[in-house]
Amino acid sequence: MPANKKLLILPGDGIGPEVMQEVTGILEFLDRRNIATFDTSEGLVGGASIEAEGVPITPEVVARAKGSDAVLFGAVGGPQWDKLGFDCRPELAILTLRRELGLFANLRPATVLDALIDASTLKPDIVRGLDIMIVRESTGGIYFGEPRGIETMADGQQRGINTEVYTTSEIERVARVAFDLARQRQGRVCSVEKANVMESGLLWRQVVTALGARDYPDVALSHMYADNCAMQLVRNPRQFDVIVTGNLFGDILSDLASMCTGSLGMLPSATLGAPDESGRRLALYEPIHGSAPDIAGKGIANPLAQTFSLAMLLRYSFDMTEEAAMIEAACRSVLEQGLRTGDIMQPGMTRVTTNEMGAAVRAALERLAA
Ligand code: NAD
Repeated sequence: MPANKKLLILPGDGIGPEVMQEVTGILEFLDRRNIATFDTSEGLVGGASIEAEGVPITPEVVARAKGSDAVLFGAVGGPQWDKLGFDCRPELAILTLRRELGLFANLRPATVLDALIDASTLKPDIVRGLDIMIVRESTGGIYFGEPRGIETMADGQQRGINTEVYTTSEIERVARVAFDLARQRQGRVCSVEKANVMESGLLWRQVVTALGARDYPDVALSHMYADNCAMQLVRNPRQFDVIVTGNLFGDILSDLASMCTGSLGMLPSATLGAPDESGRRLALYEPIHGSAPDIAGKGIANPLAQTFSLAMLLRYSFDMTEEAAMIEAACRSVLEQGLRTGDIMQPGMTRVTTNEMGAAVRAALERLAA
């Protein structure tokens, strides 16, 4: 099979390279079995790039990301770089990539696997079979709106200002991502804002409603205020299929939804850009966890979030639904065999290292592909 799928791999810092190594093993498996071949290259980001190049990401790596069909990102950061200024911290690598690649839709699935149902702090009956997707607008809203800053007023007090601002096109493009995803899932979108107290929320509701009626009459659309959504995510999270919301509410609600599953080392994410004329969309896939400096170098990190990130990449960037499902099934099967890294360890299970978990996933893939 010709290698026409360009993939840029950016392992980063801490446990990033350790978990990424297990995923590159899966890419080798796909190639060896003639399932899929990728034109892969690697680059430095975060602290690793600061050490080698003096900056968290070089223009050359940004250019390579722009020229790739998908970017698989590990994690960046670590205490040795914490004292650097905000303009050269490792975390700037990911912000730069999001900005330069125009990645505006952050997809955060929250899925509870039967084998890990006890990892959630919520009761098993509430989270059993949970499978929701939160689509968060990630380049607009209050984190980027102007005016912003801290100013001194005439009476000597200071005032901090941030501005929640969304345009019709910003709302439409992220809502479109949510509607399209719902069509591949259970066909339901819940749009979340605070239309009761914020004009930007009112516009959000109007635009999403009009788009749904015009282009997605087959998708069931509902609306919810953000505070109620937080409550409902804890009370009855299974009522949701796809949730679409702005940057601020999405930041909070996606973390809340992640914790319904209880295991940081298991959850992937994607950030998508707008499709060009040919339908090609720039996209970046990464686990939601960070570089975990406390366990880096010990070989005990859970590689499954990075592995699920690869599955998302195959599904959303390359339409390789079957291959993505096979990787997800392989991960589920090793958990059903009772293998656990330390972060998801439970009584009676077998504790394994990062390498052992990766090898077990590849062995499961060999069986599934046989
Ligand atoms: P973290 O996600 O790195 O770690 C939180 C806790 O979860 C730690 O105890 C860690 O050991 C554990 N953990 C995380 N991933 C794990 C895995 N795969 N397997 C087993 N255990 C795992 O968050 P943090 O400690 O707040 O941040 C550490 C560094 O990572 C900081 O420099 C932070 O800025 C950075 N960070 C980067 C990203 C990113 O690259 N996108 C995201 C979050 C944090």
